[in-house]
This record gives sequence, structure tokens and C-alpha cells, in this order.
Amino acid sequence: MSQRTFSIIKPDAVRKGHAGAILAEIEKAGFRIVSIKKASISKAQAEGFYHVHAARPFFGELTDFMSSGPIFPMVLEKQNAIADLRKLMGATNPAQAEEGTIRKKFAASIGENAIHGSDAEETAEFEIGYFFAGYELK
Ligand code: ATP
Ligand code: MG
Repeated sequence: MSQRTFSIIKPDAVRKGHAGAILAEIEKAGFRIVSIKKASISKAQAEGFYHVHAARPFFGELTDFMSSGPIFPMVLEKQNAIADLRKLMGATNPAQAEEGTIRKKFAASIGENAIHGSDAEETAEFEIGYFFAGYELK
């Protein structure tokens, strides 16, 4: 059964002009782009999105970074979308990411790691709703 996940092309990748190449990887891997937009979020909006990480030492750095420039939030669909996108992204730290993954190709560091992907069904649902209204999802 097909499944939806939520992803963000992060500010570092947009700044470097990698958004198109990352989208190409995503489509090549068989995902349908259900919805996508360009957005710039405030620090408070980034804090709301990453609320589960509020107690982590890197929370300030992470939310400063995510509000530092334009991003491309998107909803993706395919069978096993959540797990398959995480695999395509590669490890959080690009130094540990497998060859051929998006983070291996496009990410510079654990903080500036090019792409976000939901880690479970409940988080995907929250994250899609955080950025998209129902009428934008077809
Ligand atoms: P994401 O949630 O963005 O898809 P992830 O699930 O691979 O990434 P998480 O553990 O959820 O990783 O961390 C969220 C984000 O916080 C990471 O993508 C990264 O940008 C940042 N982050 C995680 N660990 C660190 C760290 N030790 N130092 C700096 N930033 C970090
Ligand atoms: Mg995560």
C-alpha cells in the first residue's frame, strides 16, 4: 500500500543550488511528489517543527540553521515511503552516510545535512500538517 512521508530540502542545499539535483534523486527512486513549495520559516516555526528535539544541546543551532534561508518542504508518496526515503537520505552525519545517498553527495556536516525525512508514521502526519493544508494534498 502506498504511504506518504514528509521531507525538506534544507537551507544549505538550497543555497548551494542542489535542490533540483536532490529532487531528481527523489523522483528517480520512484517517489511521487504530492506537493512542494518554497518557504522561509522563522526561528519560532523551526522550534515548533523540531519540538521533539527541544532538550537536545544542538536545538539552538538546528533551529537557527533551519530558519537561515529558503527551504523546500514537500510531501512524497510511494510504497514504504518513510523507510525508503530515510535509506535514500543516508545517515544523519554525512561522514557516515553510504555511497550514493543524498547526504553523501550533497551534505557538508551533521548540522548542515541537506535533507530531512520523517522517521515514523505519526511524525509524518504531524510534519505534513505543520506545512500543508488538506487542499494542497492531492
Ligand atoms: P532529520 O530529522 O532532519 O531528518 P535525522 O532524523 O537524521 O534528521 P535527528 O536525530 O532527527 O536526525 O536530528 C535532527 C537534525 O538535527 C539532524 O538532521 C541534524 O541537522 C541536527 N543534528 C542532529 N544531531 C546533531 C548534532 N550532534 N550536532 C548538530 N546538529 C545535529
Ligand atoms: Mg529526525
